[in-house]
Amino acid sequence: MKSSLIQNNLSADLPAIESAQGVWLTDTRGKRYLDACSGAVVTTIGHGNPAVIAAMAEQAQHVTFTHRGAFTSVQTEQLADRLAALTGYAGVWFVSSGSEAVEAALQFALQYFREIGQPERQWFLSSSQSYHGNTLGGLSLSGHARRSVAGELAHAFHTLPTPYTYRDSAGLSESDYADALLVLAREQFVEHAHHLAGIVIEPVGGATLSATVPPAHYLVGLKSLCEEFGVLFIADEVMTGLGRAGRMLASDHWGIKPDLVATGKGLGAGYTPIAATLVSERVISAIEQGSGRIQGGHTYAGNPLSIAIASAVIEVLVSEDLVARGARMAVYLREQLENLAASHPVIGDVRGVGMLLALEFVQNRETREVTLPQGQLGRRVAAAALRHGVIIYVATGGFNEAAAVSPPLTISTEEIDYLVAGLDLALSEVESQLL
Ligand code: PLP
Repeated sequence: MKSSLIQNNLSADLPAIESAQGVWLTDTRGKRYLDACSGAVVTTIGHGNPAVIAAMAEQAQHVTFTHRGAFTSVQTEQLADRLAALTGYAGVWFVSSGSEAVEAALQFALQYFREIGQPERQWFLSSSQSYHGNTLGGLSLSGHARRSVAGELAHAFHTLPTPYTYRDSAGLSESDYADALLVLAREQFVEHAHHLAGIVIEPVGGATLSATVPPAHYLVGLKSLCEEFGVLFIADEVMTGLGRAGRMLASDHWGIKPDLVATGKGLGAGYTPIAATLVSERVISAIEQGSGRIQGGHTYAGNPLSIAIASAVIEVLVSEDLVARGARMAVYLREQLENLAASHPVIGDVRGVGMLLALEFVQNRETREVTLPQGQLGRRVAAAALRHGVIIYVATGGFNEAAAVSPPLTISTEEIDYLVAGLDLALSEVESQLL
């Protein structure tokens, strides 16, 4: 019987997952899959962690919901303090999804400028190829195939260049490429100077281009532009944040301290819908000294059950030193992916930082060309990998054929070997059909 469940692909026949443990998922037919992309780059600490499950059960015995506007709790304040200490931010605003964390960052920026007497600053800039969420603010910022669903409701904020060394740097040195991008960025700052509130940047490209790392001083240059033009730097670290990219925040790699940071996936790590906007002293003190009140919020934001679960997730992340562990294991994984590239011409590029790695696929490695219709090559590789028991996360932005390889930070070397062996078979299969 056909289910009433509405899925993205209405005719999809997806496997139904029954259980999960560590990096493994098992479907209702008993087939096991290695979750080589942590779902949608979510499950940093792996599936089925007993400490998190115990915290979930324990909290459920006490209280699962109170309204954020009426009550706080010791645990909520402790989690905020812990996140603030781990990331170096003054304030933490809880929400329930990455999209909401981005929306909240936009609203904090708008309020900041109202509070300091510059209400005309209401415009944002983001990268031409980017993904910032499925809400109207997020889609307005996104240079992604998905923004079409919002039609005229979405603003076109995505006018900054996108660092994409593999396809865009035209043989320039890393430094010259960053300079060239910064010239284009400056033009946008100048054009919008009178009404610019902030820029919203994924420090490492995520769902749109897959793990694209900016050239060395690009983000530092953007931060300087923000300071010159009095604009807020908002980092969208929904995918990269809380350990995924090998540091607590990916921005730390470049010594950048954004004014606002959206975090998400790694906070609930697949155990509960929770996300948070990190707010700098500059922004929160302007609000404290101004109206002293934040408009907005969501009913389920910071509910006690999600707070207890996220507290347990962060405890596992810190006590097991998973950020450093993930960074170490990522070195091994990257070596193995580079070995794969040496024998598989369909791999055009291996890239990324920390445990946010990706492969870009091509049909001609010399020319970097893809002749199949957009989206098909990446999906073919992912489908072949799935048949061989390995799940990778295909970029859906509409610009390339790439897929994230971003397993939980807990993955072992043996599991990486399994992952790579499955990919090896999948790539051979695709190559035998195409090349
Ligand atoms: N921002 C970035 C960088 C993301 O990668 C995502 C999700 O993939 C989002 C925002 C939206 O997060 P969510 O799907 O939790 O709303």
